Amino acid sequence: MTGSDVGVPLIDVQAHRRVIGDEIDARIQAVLEHGRYILGPEVAEFESALADHIGGDVEAVTCANGTDALVLALLALGVEPGDAVVCPSFTFVASAEAVAAIGAVPVFADVTSTTFNVDASSVAAALADADSRGLRVAGVMAVDLFGRPAPYPELRRLTGERGVWLLADAAQSFGASLGGTKVGALADVTTTSFFPAKPLGCYGDGGAVFTADRGIADTLRSLRVHGKGEDKYHNVRVGQNSRLDTLQAAVLLPKLAILDGELDDRDRVAASYARRLPTELAPPAPEEELRSAWAQYTITTSNRTDVQAALADAGIGNAVYYPVPLHLQPAYAQFHSEGAPLVTSERLADVVISLPMHPYLSDDEIDAVVTTVARVATGSVGI
Ligand SMILES: *Cc1c(COP(=O)(O)O)cnc(C)c1O
Repeated sequence: MTGSDVGVPLIDVQAHRRVIGDEIDARIQAVLEHGRYILGPEVAEFESALADHIGGDVEAVTCANGTDALVLALLALGVEPGDAVVCPSFTFVASAEAVAAIGAVPVFADVTSTTFNVDASSVAAALADADSRGLRVAGVMAVDLFGRPAPYPELRRLTGERGVWLLADAAQSFGASLGGTKVGALADVTTTSFFPAKPLGCYGDGGAVFTADRGIADTLRSLRVHGKGEDKYHNVRVGQNSRLDTLQAAVLLPKLAILDGELDDRDRVAASYARRLPTELAPPAPEEELRSAWAQYTITTSNRTDVQAALADAGIGNAVYYPVPLHLQPAYAQFHSEGAPLVTSERLADVVISLPMHPYLSDDEIDAVVTTVARVATGSVGI
C-alpha cells in the first residue's frame, strides 16, 4: 500500500521490488537451477559482501535469524549457565531471551530518554548489582534501538576496565555507523537480523554474527552446523541447526548493494519528520559522526491513545515499540532485582509511538503523517 488515499503503511517491505525486483528474481532463479539450498555459493558470496561492507578484518557468519545469532554469539563467547549478562530493559524481548534461553541471567540496565539506548552509568550500576548478587559477570550486551548505535566508546571503556566482552545486538541497525566505524566493528561481537521489516530484510528469517576474532568466527561456523569438527559427522561441541537459506542469501545480495542508498532515503524521511513535527515531539537528530539506520522513527507523547486513534482514523500505520519493559514481563521479572531502578524504561513504555518509516516514503505520505500527529499529539512532559 502506498499513496495517502489508501493509507500509509508503517513499513513497506515490498517497495524495493519496484527498483530491484527483477534482479532478485533472477538470483532466486539461479538458486532454483543449481539446487544447493543449504550453504550454497550465494551464502559465501553474501558473507564476503557483508564483511566488505563493514570493512577492517571483520568476518561475517550468517545463521537462521537474529535471535539465533544472539544465542550463537553468547555460546561462542563462552557464556555458562548462571553467568550474568547486562542488557537494557527497554528492547525487543529477543535480547534478553537469548541470554535466558541458555540458562544465563539477564541483568537489566536502564536507557536514556533521548536516545532510547542503554545508559552507560546504569550499566555500571547493573555490573555492581550482579556482583552484589554473587553472579559471575560474563559481559555486556548493547542494543542499537530503532537503528541508532549505542554509546560504544563509553561501553567499551566500562567493559575494558572490567575485562569482559561487549556484544552488540544490532538487529535494527545494520548499515549504521559511529565515528566512521560501521556497525559490525563497534563491539567485540555483533549480531544482526534480516527479518523482513529490518533495515536489511530478506523474504523470511535470516541473521548474522560479525567479529574480528578468528577463533570466535570458527566456533560460530561449527555451532551453526551441529557443533561440527572436521565435518558434520564429527561433533566437537553441542551445537544447533542454524543456517541462512541459500535462497535468502540470493535475495539479500542485491538488497545489500542498494542499502547505502536506502539509508540516505531513510535519512531524508527522518530529516523531513524532524523539520516538520513540533520540536517537543521529534527525537533529537543524530549528531555528526553518528548515522542511524532508522529502523523505526519513534516519538514520545503523553496522549498516545489520542495519537493512535487519529492515525488509525487516517489509515496511517503506527506501533508501540515496546509497551512493556522486559523487567516487568511475566517471564523476565524473576531476573530483576529491586535495587536497580529502571524508571526511564518504564516511562518510555507509556509514551513511545513509532511512525511510518521506510526508504520509499513519499513527501505526500510524510505530509499526511505530520499533519495528523501535529493536530493531536502533546509533548511528553517529565521524561
Ligand atoms: C528483531 C530483533 C531481534 C531478533 O531478530 P529475529 O531475526 O526476529 O530473530 C533481536 N533483537 C532486536 C533488538 C530485534 O529488533
